[in-house]
Amino acid sequence: MSLRSLLVLILVLMMTQCSVPEEKPKAVLVIHGGAGWIKRGSVSDSLEQELTKTLQTSLRKGRAIISSGGSSLDAVQTAIMHLEDSPLFNAGKGSVFTYDEKNEMDSAIMDGATGNAGAATGIQTIKNPIEVARAVLDKSVHVFLSGTGAEEFAIEQGLTQVEPSYFFTQKNYDKVIEAKASMKEVKQDKLGTVGAVALDTDGNIAAGTSTGGMTNKRYGRIGDVPVIGAGTYAENGICGISATGHGEYFIRYVVAHDIAARMKYANQNIHQAANDVITSLKEKGGLGGVIGLDSAGNVVMPFNTPGMFRGYISLDGEPVVAMYKD
Ligand code: ASP
Repeated sequence: MSLRSLLVLILVLMMTQCSVPEEKPKAVLVIHGGAGWIKRGSVSDSLEQELTKTLQTSLRKGRAIISSGGSSLDAVQTAIMHLEDSPLFNAGKGSVFTYDEKNEMDSAIMDGATGNAGAATGIQTIKNPIEVARAVLDKSVHVFLSGTGAEEFAIEQGLTQVEPSYFFTQKNYDKVIEAKASMKEVKQDKLGTVGAVALDTDGNIAAGTSTGGMTNKRYGRIGDVPVIGAGTYAENGICGISATGHGEYFIRYVVAHDIAARMKYANQNIHQAANDVITSLKEKGGLGGVIGLDSAGNVVMPFNTPGMFRGYISLDGEPVVAMYKD
């Protein structure tokens, strides 16, 4: 082959390489609305419809940010805020009650591009706890704020404050009264935490989670949600994960980071990593699930409970929403 034809060949090869379109991510946003004892037939048709609609709207709102060139962090925050504003999920408005008959909320958000994170615990009067986490990420030198300090910071940042009564729902109040009467330490039925993971057009992954915790929790208990690496984790090029379930187990086994570490160090794909972690968690007594996205937009939503409210959306498709195991 002459030098000239070799150069032509190299040029053609370079051009074809450049013109191969990058594969579109399979999904750009995945969300959950909690894992737990949600069996087919245990949820009325009208409630099922309401839950589906709320999850679909959250997915559409988050996707709109990505498709207009916005960041995965904004998409995660927007999707979660929609769920926090609904009384149907155990986060924001629908948060469950503590033993002291209060609402104490936890939240976290992580930016996979920078490794920066923001988390808050013991929020009692800020309308959207995910906004507190986001403000910590953006505006604080710290990563994790708690209680009155976190609220003071949130107010300084101009976040919307509400009376604690804003978070009152009769069904959650009845649940804590029932749990206290039956001496259950913490009540696990429909766990109901919310979370989101997004992948934007710059390839940045973000993950966020928000929760009221567990009914009848006591002594300032903090769950896995605001513990970075346990309930929430994001790392560009690897994955983003948001968890839901019995937080104590997710903390002990550092679930979200374990999934990322298996992908990073043991070369597992996101399906193997997430499924293995959630299966072995059950063997250790930990109930719940995770949602996740890798850098190609592959979605995982494994859980080891009868159900998990969940869904995902691609750049141009319809939202896909599910609740039960089968
Ligand atoms: N993981 C949350 C917690 O332990 C509860 C949940 O996911 O529903 O606080």
